[in-house]
Amino acid sequence: MTDIQKNLEQVNKSLKKGVQLVAVSKTKPNELLQQAYDAGQRVFGENKVQELVSKYESLAKDIQWHFIGHLQTNKVKFIVPFVQLIHAVDSIKLLKQINKEAEKHNKIQEVLLQVHIAQESTKFGFSYEELTTLLESNQLGDYPNIQVRGLMSMATNSSDEALVANEFSRLNDFFQNYKSDSFNILSIGMSNDYHLAMDHGSTMVRVGSTIFGARNYN
Ligand SMILES: *Cc1c(COP(=O)(O)O)cnc(C)c1O
Repeated sequence: MTDIQKNLEQVNKSLKKGVQLVAVSKTKPNELLQQAYDAGQRVFGENKVQELVSKYESLAKDIQWHFIGHLQTNKVKFIVPFVQLIHAVDSIKLLKQINKEAEKHNKIQEVLLQVHIAQESTKFGFSYEELTTLLESNQLGDYPNIQVRGLMSMATNSSDEALVANEFSRLNDFFQNYKSDSFNILSIGMSNDYHLAMDHGSTMVRVGSTIFGARNYN
């Protein structure tokens, strides 16, 4: 077993029941993704369009690719043909563009809405107020080729566990209000905080460096 395969096994063992693992492979070469694939991992997350397309073209076709980064509207067309889930939809403009491309491909594109919960102003996402309006209006009906499967978020990058727990907990309360058979994914938790996220309702964790090792760049 390689180090990556051992790490993957450890992470899988620590997952709560029903929580799906997205192996975040950004910046990592295909050989390392292949090791995770050979150990059974099928869901991979990437945050750069070009890198995702290149990996999609090189690796096995039964991989489920998740786009987890900030997506520019002019790049939507490159990933919609094959991507399984787009995690970080943060504007109506982006919803509109995804819907348009999905329609061209005769596809219902699954997405998550990104929620801004962190203290850093640099993180993208809808505010709770904006989301409430969006989810309680008929607005999503304007996008028949999109299925909103749930919410995605990133907590404040902090060692203050109480702060992070609070952010996750409030988000989970909000999520539970809208949860349904199809709106049932809460994508929270990364290497540093996925245990905490699972304690607060996470159904999908995005784990990178704990599996693949530290990255040199983001
Ligand atoms: C890089 C990244 C991750 C994984 O981060 P790690 O700390 O390496 O686990 C998760 N989610 C998003 C949106 C990311 O960009």
